Amino acid sequence: DDRIARIASAIRVIPNFPKPGILFQDITTLLLDTKAFRDTIDLFVERYKGKDISVVAGIEARGFIFGPPIALAIGAKFVPMRKPNKLPGEVISEEYSLEYGSDKMEMHVGAVQAGERALVIDDLIATGGTLCAAIRLLERVGVDVVECACVIELPELKGRDRLGEKPLFVLVNAP
Ligand code: 5GP
Repeated sequence: DDRIARIASAIRVIPNFPKPGILFQDITTLLLDTKAFRDTIDLFVERYKGKDISVVAGIEARGFIFGPPIALAIGAKFVPMRKPNKLPGEVISEEYSLEYGSDKMEMHVGAVQAGERALVIDDLIATGGTLCAAIRLLERVGVDVVECACVIELPELKGRDRLGEKPLFVLVNAP
């Protein structure tokens, strides 16, 4: 698919951000390329349309950019998975470990119902810890997480292995 090459080249790589030694994959330049941005959404929509998915769960913050247009196009609702103390209503939360310390992810109670079929979306998978927390949160309330999808995978960090049996779909592999 020649759309993938254009998407890959629209992603900017910034060394030493946010910390020395990190090679940051910057998707804001992908959003500036109207064709590459549209192709990104189209590739996900082509994969998930007609798959009976009623929930697109987007992970803060960049899952909020890619999730909503996919949700609208496949006729699903969009559910934000947020950092702690951002959602105003009653939440359920899930803790997950980071390189140093831990973080929490929250979702509104009542946003999803047991038995719904969900797609989890984020911009990038590194160690997979963030996606795993989102999966646990949804599965705790009886949602069937059909697949996770990201624009970019960093295969060296083996996040895919951490997801176990859960399918992961990505558009671009980054070194
Ligand atoms: P993980 O939990 O898989 O180790 O990290 C993935 C999370 O960190 C995602 O929410 C993703 O947005 C963020 N992240 C980590 N590294 C990068 C990067 O190089 N570029 C971008 N855009 N996000 C990153």
